[in-house]
Amino acid sequence: MSNPIPYLSPWMNEELLMFRKTAKRFVQEEFLPHEPRWREQHRPDAEAWTKAGETGLLLTDVPEEYGGGGGTFAHETVVMEELAYAGVNFGSGVHSIVAHYVLSYGTEEQKKSWLPRMAAGELVGAIAMSEPAAGSDLQGIKTFARREGDDYIINGSKTFITNGWHASLICLAVKTDAQAGAKGISLVMVESKGLKGYRVGRSLEKVGMHAQDTCELFFDDVRVPASNLLGSTEGRGFYQMMEQLPYERLTVGVAAVAVTEKAVEITIRYVKDRQAFGKKLIDFQNTRFKLAECKTEAHIGRVFLDNCIQRLMDNQLDTATAAMSKYWLTDKQCAIIDECVQLHGGYGYMSEYPIARMWTDSRVQRIYAGTNEIMKELIARSL
Ligand SMILES: Cc1cc2nc3c(=O)[nH]c(=O)nc-3n(C[C@H](O)[C@H](O)[C@H](O)COP(=O)(O)OP(=O)(O)OC[C@H]3O[C@@H](n4cnc5c(N)ncnc54)[C@H](O)[C@@H]3O)c2cc1C
Repeated sequence: MSNPIPYLSPWMNEELLMFRKTAKRFVQEEFLPHEPRWREQHRPDAEAWTKAGETGLLLTDVPEEYGGGGGTFAHETVVMEELAYAGVNFGSGVHSIVAHYVLSYGTEEQKKSWLPRMAAGELVGAIAMSEPAAGSDLQGIKTFARREGDDYIINGSKTFITNGWHASLICLAVKTDAQAGAKGISLVMVESKGLKGYRVGRSLEKVGMHAQDTCELFFDDVRVPASNLLGSTEGRGFYQMMEQLPYERLTVGVAAVAVTEKAVEITIRYVKDRQAFGKKLIDFQNTRFKLAECKTEAHIGRVFLDNCIQRLMDNQLDTATAAMSKYWLTDKQCAIIDECVQLHGGYGYMSEYPIARMWTDSRVQRIYAGTNEIMKELIARSL
């Protein structure tokens, strides 16, 4: 299937066009046929990770010396777009986010140990910040890592964790000093397979994104080497998260624009086909005007996103602009897709229609990676 918008982003080039072909073929042939089953089981198959790794679709923007693709955020964008155009929920974006924490703050030994295995899909990354009583207000987390000799002993729980079931390398936000507020938060990497005291809870029943692996995680006297602390000193976790969140927020924006473009494309097709009162839906002026508005806004979103992608690649994407992209692009995504559902009539509410799934999948985009209200707080700080 072609790119739904006949517009070439300024960051696109010949090599990326070839890479898009590979990603598209892979998603269509290796993921899409299994996607209905993934929705039923609430997670992708474990082999999906190693297959994506073999095809070179994981850690595309991590240097080759650590097993990555040696590309840029443009490569990540291509993979996320192809997943979004196909309507496949796969947590490779979160996996990349974890890799970037390791890349930015890990020791040489940690990078060499974890990144090649992540690139191969042998290790699956998750980032575990949110807890039952602390989401937006991360300073309120309770999961605690107590130093004992050369180890940390970790106790606590996390919820809503993407890739939770398959996760084998968890970037875990913990308190290392209960009294120090934000300065008491650290990030500890947990290699979780077979780890005593570590338990994955149930797969959470979501209203959408059914194929995405979302779980609770429990830590009961879990012992990890103290050398798994990210960064050389305790208490840097909050700062590290703030530094990495623009990358995460832009990945949400990338998916928002791709899904929006796809929704407009399939709705245009639908209204050209469906008839009412003896004419095609597209022949009603309301339909044409609504879709003209949707297409215009989707295109404005694309141009803004492209600007943010370029700024990220140039190391110029500041916190406020990343927050603008996350909030605005996901608000628009939900509004436009809601309009597209309306233009589908009753069929727009039927799960077998892609537009219905886009509608339920989209809603969470305004909530995770920092709610859109928190994004406005961040933007407001720059006023
Ligand atoms: C499908 C899914 C996947 C997720 N994946 C992950 C993951 O991989 N890792 C992870 O750590 N977390 C993950 N999350 C958690 C997500 O990041 C949180 O749900 C989100 O940050 C909001 O936290 P909360 O749910 O505790 O809501 P709360 O913080 O309780 O917020 C409730 C409401 O209050 C508003 N609010 C809170 N504080 C303020 C304020 N200061 N000003 C104005 N309004 C405010 C919020 O905007 C929101 O509308 C995921 C969530 C979902 C649903």
